Amino acid sequence: MKIAILRWSDRRQYGRVQIAHCTHYRCPEIPLAIEEALRLIEQVAPRHYQRVQLHLRYISDTARFDAAYYDNESQTCHINFDVFPKEWLTLEPDHFEWYLVQLAGTIVHEATHARLHANGFAYTNVDRVQHERICHAEEMRFYRKVPGTYYDPAEDMVQPFNPENWLPSWNRTPQEKRELLRKELRRLWEELKVALRE
Ligand SMILES: [Zn+2]
Repeated sequence: MKIAILRWSDRRQYGRVQIAHCTHYRCPEIPLAIEEALRLIEQVAPRHYQRVQLHLRYISDTARFDAAYYDNESQTCHINFDVFPKEWLTLEPDHFEWYLVQLAGTIVHEATHARLHANGFAYTNVDRVQHERICHAEEMRFYRKVPGTYYDPAEDMVQPFNPENWLPSWNRTPQEKRELLRKELRRLWEELKVALRE
């Protein structure tokens, strides 16, 4: 289902990664922001950029209940633009920089999940803390490489690893997941109807 939406969506390409714009139809700036984040990774962290290009097939604006997640089946980094701004072009330069670096760091984090999966490490209840620790460390390593203009990402964005941040996602019951998925599909459908009318 998700792969069908990704294939159908409005897409642009950066390297071999497809940027899929599936939701928030009135916000054409979202794919531009993702492209800009990829450019930042390419400029400041070539090893991370290589990882993104090697292990992610799509970057899409389709995460809804967590800030971001990686889906093995479609090799997609899903990002939640209810967490990130949707109108990037009107952001003040300092806000633009803050969110752009955060967005790029999120992509690096999810690309590290993709690499772990490709190397045969499954994301299980037993190993998930270790997975998140590794991905968090890579995200922080990326922030240390970014020369900020308004911020010092090495000072302002580097956070210690705290597995409790993942508890809301890990503790969701199957019933809660189903309900969230139903809401997500309903919202996608409503947005699709609006897009088809416009
Ligand atoms: Zn993660």
